[in-house]
Amino acid sequence: MYKNIFDSHAHYTDKAFNDDRENLLDSLKESGICGVINCGADLKSSEKSLNLADSYDYFYFACGIHPEEVENLPENYIDILRDLAKHEKCVAIGEIGLDYYWRQDTKEKQREVFENQILLAKELDLPIIVHDREAHGDTLEILKKHKPKGVLHCFSGSVETAKVVLKLGMYIGFGGALTFKNARKALEVAEILPLDKLLLETDCPYMAPVPMRGKRNDSSLIPYVAEKMAEIKNTDPQSVLDIATKNTKDLFNI
Ligand SMILES: [Zn+2]
Repeated sequence: MYKNIFDSHAHYTDKAFNDDRENLLDSLKESGICGVINCGADLKSSEKSLNLADSYDYFYFACGIHPEEVENLPENYIDILRDLAKHEKCVAIGEIGLDYYWRQDTKEKQREVFENQILLAKELDLPIIVHDREAHGDTLEILKKHKPKGVLHCFSGSVETAKVVLKLGMYIGFGGALTFKNARKALEVAEILPLDKLLLETDCPYMAPVPMRGKRNDSSLIPYVAEKMAEIKNTDPQSVLDIATKNTKDLFNI
């Protein structure tokens, strides 16, 4: 039985949890979960994430606009995020970033919204939680320009990209994808990643690790990821969980 498990990236506001959210969140501590950072993806889910953090003592939250949600934002979205971020349990601006896999048509707007939110994070001295899908070049360029604190979540880049991210002092988040059969790139990055830069996450309800792949994910499945990482790093899973939890608390000032 594992303990001291911190899920650095979850979406418990997702409708996939509508039927049993309360029961599930009441039970997670019994599965060894000591903390969860619930991430916003738009203004509504950012506010709902704040409400979750108010309701559960082991919950924290991030507020932000996901790159797939950059259209139809109110003009004052940064002011709204700033107000949400004043809450004592807001630990980051996220998730924010670039997604050129799903959205080729909004690239310019994505970059603008990403940069505006990085500036907000820097103003508030908060780290950022970055989503980067098929946009490694532009993401790195923007990160190099602003040098924020933060994490590249659900990392999908190459070893070369990872090295740049690490040089910027940022962390790298791994979840279920590390256990997938086709995870060659992620395995290579995991091999070179210093354990003091590792965060563990679910991105639930998505990305459930093997052997639960395809099912609804939740924080209690993080040990499968820790077991895979322990195999790569030639250590034991509880040590991986302990280090990742320490890193999460360090980065997010918890
Ligand atoms: Zn996410």
